[in-house]
Amino acid sequence: MLSLAAPAKLNLALDVLGRRPDGYHEVKMVLQSVDLADSVQLLDCPPRGGENSRARLVISREPGLEGEDIPGDERNLALQAARLLAGEYGVALRVEIRLHKRIPAAAGLGGGSADAAAVLKGLNLLWDLGRTPEELHRLAVRLGADVPFCLQGGTALAQGIGERLSPLRPAVELWFVLVKPPFGLSTAEVYRAWDEVGEKSRLKVEELVEALQEGDPARVGRLVGNALEAVVFPRYPVLKEIKEGLLALGALGAAMSGSGPTVFGLVEGEEQARNLAAEVARRRPEWGKVYAVRALPGSST
Ligand code: ATP
Repeated sequence: MLSLAAPAKLNLALDVLGRRPDGYHEVKMVLQSVDLADSVQLLDCPPRGGENSRARLVISREPGLEGEDIPGDERNLALQAARLLAGEYGVALRVEIRLHKRIPAAAGLGGGSADAAAVLKGLNLLWDLGRTPEELHRLAVRLGADVPFCLQGGTALAQGIGERLSPLRPAVELWFVLVKPPFGLSTAEVYRAWDEVGEKSRLKVEELVEALQEGDPARVGRLVGNALEAVVFPRYPVLKEIKEGLLALGALGAAMSGSGPTVFGLVEGEEQARNLAAEVARRRPEWGKVYAVRALPGSST
């Protein structure tokens, strides 16, 4: 049996540069993995009489995630990752995937992508495939735009549809408070809304990269941002309220992550993160779930 952590990601910056003819969007993002993670266990699953392949998916959830839409069938990205890997390298699909969800779904936190990346990495070991990080990266792109990043984790500048990755090394430990309102948003619908408005953003992604490398959290805070806020906030005004609330309560910067609805606030350190999270939970319970999380360094595949 193999156990892996599948950490959530935040978009410290998300700029949409345009829509490609194939429907994907060109983006420029700074991605950061954090220590809110699903756990993924992979076990050998001997085929039953007559079958030569068998995949089982068993999902459990952290208390509070009971209502989340997490498919238990072929739509689940973890299962899709296993199937893709087995098909690509001609090995029998023999696995039981036990997924313990801690990352809220449809939250902008990349939960499904994190699970898919963990399955690719884990089955490469469990099935003794010996595939290189580059080979896994190529498969990851086919599963989703955030999956390649989730394979390496840490901090990265992501371009193209998210698959062109340049790892970054922030010179300071980053802490965040996440607020996940009690509803989910569909990534596809948010990008459709962006297409209608075609909002051009003015995010300074290169400057954010510089600020991270300098290790200046106040400057990082001023530079975080998300072009999709322009189409999401007018429809869900509570998200703007949360962002402004986090700033008013002392966050160095705040932005929506991915296609939302999670909003994060960047803070100085652990104590500030825990205090701010407790204060938000006490003062504004209607805003939803609140987490204090730490940025994770990348791991080699
Ligand atoms: P995206 O990666 O598109 O930004 P997200 O981070 O907002 O998405 P996910 O947690 O990946 O959200 O869930 C998006 C949808 O993907 C869910 O509503 C669910 O139907 C589906 N899904 C497929 N596999 C998984 C999985 N392993 N965990 C959670 N959701 C999954």
